[in-house]
Amino acid sequence: MEKHASPIIAVYPGSFDPITNGHVDIIKRASGIFDRVIIAVAEALHKNTLFTLKERLDFVEEAVKDMENVEVKPLRGKLLVDFCKEVNASIIVRGLRAVSDFEYEFKLAWINRRLHGDIETVFLIPSEEYAYLASSLVKEIATLGGRVDGLVPKNVAEALYRKKEEIKRKGTGEVHEQSL
Ligand code: ADP
Repeated sequence: MEKHASPIIAVYPGSFDPITNGHVDIIKRASGIFDRVIIAVAEALHKNTLFTLKERLDFVEEAVKDMENVEVKPLRGKLLVDFCKEVNASIIVRGLRAVSDFEYEFKLAWINRRLHGDIETVFLIPSEEYAYLASSLVKEIATLGGRVDGLVPKNVAEALYRKKEEIKRKGTGEVHEQSL
């Protein structure tokens, strides 16, 4: 493969529903490695997200506002590899937590390579304290009345507590996976 003379641009895609300190850890690592990092916040229509795309974008914006080489964009209605081509990115960054992520991430990396062979997927490992942290876990804890301080940025924790009150008021009891 050719060596890059131009700046290396990486895309970190995800649904970020909501962004957690584990995501922030990966973003910081990527920002230290690549010239530019673009966070692609996926619309993720199939996922029935707790937060709207706009809310998720705002949370990510707030979390990266002091990182100079990081920017945030929505990813809507197109393939990730096409998004990468549009922004001239040659790298896809994904985070790897426990072994459980591996199979899904391997499959994604494989299909993205099939779709566009010039874009490499790079996996980064978070600090140990975030190795088991997942957006789904945080949502479940917060919507059931638990505290999520230290797991997500402060504004996200507050939004989660507000969401819990909203759910309580509506009486839907809507929690994604009730297992806690
Ligand atoms: P997706 O819906 O694409 O899985 P997520 O927002 O859940 O998006 O995650 C985006 C990426 O960040 C994935 O590669 C996921 O494995 C990674 N990730 C999520 N939480 C953590 C964490 N605590 N530490 C490291 N990587 C993480």
